[in-house]
Amino acid sequence: MADFRKKLPDNVEGRFYVDSSCIDCDVCRDTAPANFKRNNQFGYSYVYKQPQNEEELARCQEAMNACPVEAIGDDGIVVKTKSHH
Ligand code: SF4
Repeated sequence: MADFRKKLPDNVEGRFYVDSSCIDCDVCRDTAPANFKRNNQFGYSYVYKQPQNEEELARCQEAMNACPVEAIGDDGIVVKTKSHH
């Protein structure tokens, strides 16, 4: 289970994100190339675009399930305002 408190700053705002436990294995970039990118300087992945159609959504969910260290999180419904306690 990814932890939003460890969410990497590179992630675009929205439901999916990668946290700092990412081991840079390439699975998510391979599974959902439209949504995940690599930070080449520090060696990890992040979400650079939230899914914008059903196929991208399915691929993001597949990537989340396939991530070997469960570094990908899904906050579900997109909440634009920051309401974390
Ligand atoms: S699948 Fe998980 S560990 Fe692998 S690069 Fe993506 S977020 Fe990182």
